[in-house]
Amino acid sequence: MSDNCLDKKEETNSVLLTSQEDPFADKQEKEEAYISSSITNSSHPSAEVGGKPDLWSKESDDSSNAGNKDDYVDSFEHMGLREPLLRGIYSYGFELPSAIQQRAIVPCCKGQDVIAQAQSGTGKTATFAVGILQQLDMSVDQCQALVLAPTRELARQTETVLLSLGDYMKVNVFLVVGGEKVRDMMSALNSGVHVVVGTPGRVMHMIRAGALETDKLKILVLDEVDVMLSRGFEQQVRDIFMELKNPSLQCITVSATLPNDVIKIADKFLRNPLKILVKQEEITLEGIKQYYVDVGKEEYKMETICDLYGILSIAKSVIFCNTKHKVQWLQDRMSARDFTVSAIHSDQSPEERKTVMKEFRTGSSRILIGTDLISRGIDVHQVSLVFNFDLPPERESYIHRIGRGGRFGRKGVAINLITQDDHRKLRELEVFYSTAIEELPKKIDHLLD
Ligand code: ADP
Ligand code: MG
Repeated sequence: MSDNCLDKKEETNSVLLTSQEDPFADKQEKEEAYISSSITNSSHPSAEVGGKPDLWSKESDDSSNAGNKDDYVDSFEHMGLREPLLRGIYSYGFELPSAIQQRAIVPCCKGQDVIAQAQSGTGKTATFAVGILQQLDMSVDQCQALVLAPTRELARQTETVLLSLGDYMKVNVFLVVGGEKVRDMMSALNSGVHVVVGTPGRVMHMIRAGALETDKLKILVLDEVDVMLSRGFEQQVRDIFMELKNPSLQCITVSATLPNDVIKIADKFLRNPLKILVKQEEITLEGIKQYYVDVGKEEYKMETICDLYGILSIAKSVIFCNTKHKVQWLQDRMSARDFTVSAIHSDQSPEERKTVMKEFRTGSSRILIGTDLISRGIDVHQVSLVFNFDLPPERESYIHRIGRGGRFGRKGVAINLITQDDHRKLRELEVFYSTAIEELPKKIDHLLD
């Protein structure tokens, strides 16, 4: 049983909030027609060559559900964005918007409620970030947008993206997460910020303490919405939502995995939302090759992983374990074998977690062992290999874990270490995601080429 998931979340995220008495109900309006806009891997003139998935394709093979092609805006220039924001986007290195960006940025900018699903690493952060930055009134020094994320690491990363894209707008973005000093946080909030990115517990704390004023708040974003509306977070998210009194509050919810129950719940508190969904069989990215190695017995996993590191030359890699204990154990064992490895889990101090992420991002450590704490949202470009030392307890988690590699069309490899008992579970994953998880070939020296 997993003893660790995301911040503040003791339970797995498969149990979704059931809404008997529903505080979101008063915001419900009529349901919007279902719009599906899958990011397929079909060929497209602007697709990158070399087997990369096509991030720009607007084709859907289910035309009855496909969004109108006119709803896609295929360049940032044609989105009607303010000039300093456009400059920020280009300076950040973006040239063309991905499919989800083509489809969702304009509605986000217009204040429309949006439920957006798109595969891992296809640019959902910039989608809502541009939506926020476009709508800020820079003459108002009060919080106008709130982004909630399930972990401090993800919140910190999103803060960085907002600051970078909004650089020429001189946007004030502030991070509200546990582990930072409450008093400093309060005085910073009092001095005026445009956007807050945070985790639910500390955000609620700041609202209740009167440090985070919400009267000018016009946009709420729930990143990784399926986690945010799962047990462990849902009460806090509801509590925050109830504090936001703006009748025309815009809600944007995003994730790569959107189980039906989550869509139903989101439907209750979003107003007439635009839904952009991906078909189940299209959630996995072709650019991420998936393999398994049957090691026979649990105790052979460590040997196997060390052997593989001996053969493969890997820029950066992540190893997922299901428990904090195992993360620690594996770190100790691999360090004893002279591997430079970092480890992250929720029992570490905030400072330690911050240092570990920094070391991994800068490359002073190139192997990161972690729990599902880092399975969601974390974006480190050079990660080309993800190991599942243990198969994840939930199937959503599988897609997020392997999605830490192969970001924005880059190639990635995922290797699952399994024992005899895991074959059935592996098969279930293959069926659920209509994907193939092949046995790792004997000759693997060119696996990551
Ligand atoms: P998601 O949230 O969909 O998993 P992210 O928002 O974390 O994905 O983006 C994944 C990576 O893709 C990031 O490194 C981001 O900078 C990059 N990216 C996003 N949009 C673009 C774009 N239009 N052009 C180039 N890179 C992009
Ligand atoms: Mg994301």
